[in-house]
Amino acid sequence: MTEPVSRRIRMASAALAPLTEFLRNSAYSTCIGHDDICDFVFGNPQEPTLPGFVDALKRWIDPRDKNWYAYKPNEATACEASARHLRESHGLPFEAADIAMTGGAFAAMAVAFPLVLDPGDEVVFSVPAWFCYEAMLVQAGAVPVKVRLRPDDFDLDLDAIAAAITARTRMVIVNSPHNPTGRIYSPDTLRGLAELLERASAQHGRTIYLLSDEPYRKLVFDQREFHSPACFYDATLISYSYGKVLLTPGARLGYLAFSPNLPGRQLLRDTVETAQLGGGWLHPNALMQYAIDDLEPLSIDLAGLTRKRDRLVAALGDIGYRVHIPEGTFYLLCQSPIADDAAFTRLLAQHNVYVLPGHTFELPGYVRICLTANEDMVERSIEGFRRGFDDAQRYEHGDR
Ligand code: PLP
Repeated sequence: MTEPVSRRIRMASAALAPLTEFLRNSAYSTCIGHDDICDFVFGNPQEPTLPGFVDALKRWIDPRDKNWYAYKPNEATACEASARHLRESHGLPFEAADIAMTGGAFAAMAVAFPLVLDPGDEVVFSVPAWFCYEAMLVQAGAVPVKVRLRPDDFDLDLDAIAAAITARTRMVIVNSPHNPTGRIYSPDTLRGLAELLERASAQHGRTIYLLSDEPYRKLVFDQREFHSPACFYDATLISYSYGKVLLTPGARLGYLAFSPNLPGRQLLRDTVETAQLGGGWLHPNALMQYAIDDLEPLSIDLAGLTRKRDRLVAALGDIGYRVHIPEGTFYLLCQSPIADDAAFTRLLAQHNVYVLPGHTFELPGYVRICLTANEDMVERSIEGFRRGFDDAQRYEHGDR
C-alpha cells in the first residue's frame, strides 16, 4: 500500500511533532485566545493593533484604478522602497531587482530554498532555532544539518559549523537577533563565519550561501546594534518580515533580498519570480505592497517591551529562576526549575501562566516567555510564576 501522505510531508511532520503535540494536547490548547490567561506562548499581539498600521492600510485600500487589485507580483514601488530601506539600514547598494516581495520571512524562505537548493543539498543551522527551518527544508527536498549553539552564551559555535560542512553543503542559516535566545551576533563572530564560509566554498568548489533570517532586526534592547551577516559575506540572501516589528503576523508582508555582491546575482534576479510562481504565488497581497513605505517607520513600543523584559527578569530572579537576558527579539529564556520542562509548563498552567516548553525548540530544561504579553498579564503572572516555582520544588521531591 502506498502512503497517502508524501515522504516529505511525513518528514516535515516529524520535525514539527514536539510543537504540534504541545499545540494539540497541552492545557494551552484549551484556552488559546482567552482574555483571562497570562499568555506568553507565541509572538501574537495581546494589545490593540498599532494605530499607524491601520491608518496606513486605510490610505491605500480604495482602488485608484481598475488594476488596483489585479494580480500583483513584485510591485515596482514596493521593491524600490525595500531596496532603499535596505540601503539605509545595511549600507549596501541594493537595487529594486534584488528584492522579491513575499508574505513575510516564511514565504521568503519558501522562495529561497527551491531557488538555490537541489534535492539532497545540505543546509546547516544552529539549534535551538525557530521551529520551522527543518520542516521547510525537508519539504524543499534539502537535508537539514543541525549544530548546537555554544551552551554558555548561545553564540554561534564556528568550530561546530566548520565541522558540519561537507562537499554537499549549499547553505548556512543564521538568525540574528535570535529566536529563542535573544542573542545578537557580534561583528567578530560574523566575520569569523564569513571567513570560514569563504574557505569552505573555495575548498569544495561551490558557493555556500548564507541565509540571513532577520525578522527581528529592529527589535533590539539597550541601544544595541544589529549587524547583518550581509555586511560580512557576499553570498548572502536576506529574509525579512514586517510581522514582528509591527506585531501583525496575520498581515503578511516581507521580502527576500539578494546581497549586491552575491555571486550569480543576475541569474537569481531573473529566476526568482519562477520560484515565487512555482511555490504557489509567494507574493504578499497588493494592499500590503502599496502600504510598505508607510509601514516602514512604524514599530511596536520598544520602551514598553524593555519595561516588560526588565520587570520579568527582576521578578523571576527574585523568586529564584535563572533568566537569560535577551539583547533583542521579544523572547525571554528562562531555565525550568526542574529538568522536565513539559512538566514545569503544566505546573505553571495550573496558575494560569502559559509559556512554551523548551523541548519544542530543542532546548529541554528551559521555557520561552514571550514579551508580547501585555503589562497586565505580566503583573498578574508574577504570583503564578512564584507558585509554579514552589510547586516545582515539591515536584522535584516526589510530590506529583
Ligand atoms: N524566522 C524566525 C526566526 C521567526 O521567529 C519567525 C516567526 O516566528 C519567522 C522567521 C517567520 O516570520 P513571519 O511569520 O513574520 O514570516
